[in-house]
Amino acid sequence: MNKIRFNEFGLSKEMQKAIEDLGYEEATPIQTESIPLVLQGKDIIGQAQTGTGKTAAFGIPALELMPHEGKHVHTLVMCPTRELALQVAEEIAKLGKYKKYATLLPVYGGQPIERQITALKKGVRVVIGTPGRIMDHLDRGTLDISHIGMVVLDEADEMLNMGFRDDIEKILRSAPQQRQTVMFSATMPKPILDITRKYLKDPVHIRIEHEVLTVPKTEQTYFEVRGREKIDALTRLIDFHNLKLSMVFCNTKRGVDDLVEQLRARGYSVDGLHGDLSQGMREKVLGRFRKGTLEILAATDVAARGLDIDDVEAVFNYDMPQDEEAYVHRIGRTGRAGKEGKAFTFVSGGDFQKLKNLQRYINHKMKMGKVPSFGDIEEMKIQSLAKNIREAAKEKDAKKYIHMVENLLDDDITSLDVAAYLMREKFAFSVKAAAPAQEEEIKSGDGNTVTISINVGRKDRVKPGDLLGTVAGEANISGKLIGDITIQDRLSYLEVPSSLAEKIVRAVRGKKLKGKKLEVKTV
Ligand code: AMP
Repeated sequence: MNKIRFNEFGLSKEMQKAIEDLGYEEATPIQTESIPLVLQGKDIIGQAQTGTGKTAAFGIPALELMPHEGKHVHTLVMCPTRELALQVAEEIAKLGKYKKYATLLPVYGGQPIERQITALKKGVRVVIGTPGRIMDHLDRGTLDISHIGMVVLDEADEMLNMGFRDDIEKILRSAPQQRQTVMFSATMPKPILDITRKYLKDPVHIRIEHEVLTVPKTEQTYFEVRGREKIDALTRLIDFHNLKLSMVFCNTKRGVDDLVEQLRARGYSVDGLHGDLSQGMREKVLGRFRKGTLEILAATDVAARGLDIDDVEAVFNYDMPQDEEAYVHRIGRTGRAGKEGKAFTFVSGGDFQKLKNLQRYINHKMKMGKVPSFGDIEEMKIQSLAKNIREAAKEKDAKKYIHMVENLLDDDITSLDVAAYLMREKFAFSVKAAAPAQEEEIKSGDGNTVTISINVGRKDRVKPGDLLGTVAGEANISGKLIGDITIQDRLSYLEVPSSLAEKIVRAVRGKKLKGKKLEVKTV
């Protein structure tokens, strides 16, 4: 379907600026359909899952329709859980950033009600809460909804599953007749339809119809990585697969900018493409990528549309795309013309439902991948070196180099010494994912150290090298930063720079060594 830019909705300047700050480049399908209808005052039933951008689909028009004056609650949003209420409140706060009058309050069980009452007394314009707690406030007379203009039922099917039907109906009956009602629900079982018939006025049913797209026969793998671990996972995968040309997709302009900055800091040659770039800049970046001077191109969906880049080795979904079609378009950039392509998707937190829907849409079960460890990368580099050595030995000029080595040998220098020296030259800086280690080495030079303990020891056949490799590899720091290592029967102690202790504990905790899950503590 055709998605549109936010400046085509005729939104206020404050709203456009807030959207710009969020870095959203174009409306998602559910936003494209819902925003104009809700702005016109229509009731809608949107069939959409979490992760499709539905919060902004109702949040943007709700804030736009809110009168600037007055102290009454204008928008009441009902959500099934406290987590969702907080998430919705956070997104609406960002959208209402330049509308100072759009004060909001999340209300949910588990938080002291007195605090909510005090805030409500001061006057808030948007209340977001679970039906139970909203009902509680209505019963106490601490929430006045007699002037509301809009009621939103978010994840309505979930709310019914949680037994909120009576509360929801009571709330809808207490709200003024001439209000607008917006409902989102992933599924439309009969009780939901009953509610829509009873409480919505002539609603427009919005369902996103997908184009049927052919999914390329690319190897598709997903990785479970949390937000702040994504950058590490990306660089490790690039190093491990020795990728020379990759595209990395982010959902926002800001995401692209941040990623470019982080990758540059780690020594990768990367540039970003998004809608804010001038035509001239865009051409320049694309030219460098086509020539292979750039190894990574980070882009938003909008910027990548219509690109005539034929083939990239791998496509990364750094952010899970907002809709399934975007996924197919993204991964279609690799595995062209009979070549083998790779598509890697990072899945974090709330993305699992999206992953399920996506797999259903593409009718393909994606493989779950494991992010390579620092040790895996080194191992892979050594394997590929062994292959090169074997091949080089067969070359005609092999003898010439053997003579060079022979000339170097004397009482102090063995051929192994020569090989070790050349290995150091080759590997010291070659694993880029480890590059920040060099920076850290400089930063952590204050000399303060602490001791950490790890729950493996002699009885687990652990040697100092195993501990050094695991700690340096997992925490992505240089092994030189680790001081004394003491190995007892079942426990080992390592001396590490205090500035890195927390990072090391976090990185190593839960990992495995000699088949044992590691517990790490500072002592
Ligand atoms: P939701 O479905 O409302 O939970 O939204 C899922 C995520 O998408 C949230 O992190 C939003 O901030 C983000 N989002 C919403 N609309 C857009 C958009 N048009 N472009 C990029 N990201 C968006």
